[in-house]
Amino acid sequence: MLRKNTGLRFNILRYTQDLFDLFFPLTCAACEKDVLREEDRICSSCRMSFIKSEANTLEETKLKNRFIEFPNIDHIYSLYKFARGNEIQNLIHAIKYENHPKIAVKLGNWLGAHIAEQNTLSAYNAIAPVPLHPKKLKIRGYNQSSLISAGISETLGIPVIDDLLVRTKHTETQTKKSRWERYKNTSEKFNVNNPNDLPDKILIVDDILTSGATLTSCASAIHKHKKSNISMAVIAYAIN
Ligand SMILES: [Zn+2]
Repeated sequence: MLRKNTGLRFNILRYTQDLFDLFFPLTCAACEKDVLREEDRICSSCRMSFIKSEANTLEETKLKNRFIEFPNIDHIYSLYKFARGNEIQNLIHAIKYENHPKIAVKLGNWLGAHIAEQNTLSAYNAIAPVPLHPKKLKIRGYNQSSLISAGISETLGIPVIDDLLVRTKHTETQTKKSRWERYKNTSEKFNVNNPNDLPDKILIVDDILTSGATLTSCASAIHKHKKSNISMAVIAYAIN
């Protein structure tokens, strides 16, 4: 009797899942075409179409030039190029606003592999995600940069120090401000948790790199206490 019940429950569960899939089919987070399995939330044709950021090209040099005033910034790693309207934008939107934490970890795995390919793995002591403001963390339920960091850590075996950086104030939207205004506005946004315990080589992780204001203020917060070597890894960078 018990067995029969369990079987029945299993069938009902399966039926419910099938019905759910019928009305809410799994889709690729970037192009929204149907996919078959949860682990394929980035379909292979999207993955092929993403514009890879090439290692050691002029572009990465240009990226580094955004931080010319920081001699202790070593490398900037970016998996993809970000352009308004391309699938990468959808993907970033999905991990930030559409509750897709697993995709953030997966992208972190790929970013870790990208870093390893570049032979610049000069033994980072720690990965430090850019923190979210607690208010946003409460709404989103997770910090996408922490999950990307976890993915990198899985691939490279470098520990994540989730609270190495902390946020000090909530900032208003930055889109209409000039680069300098943005810099001033973010310059006091970050602090470090344990100033006496900062690692020598730190890999800061964020989802995208735009003006560089976030990295600049994270680096300032660290360098106030210790001139650690800093590198940054992002899923995509915006082309100026
Ligand atoms: Zn797709």
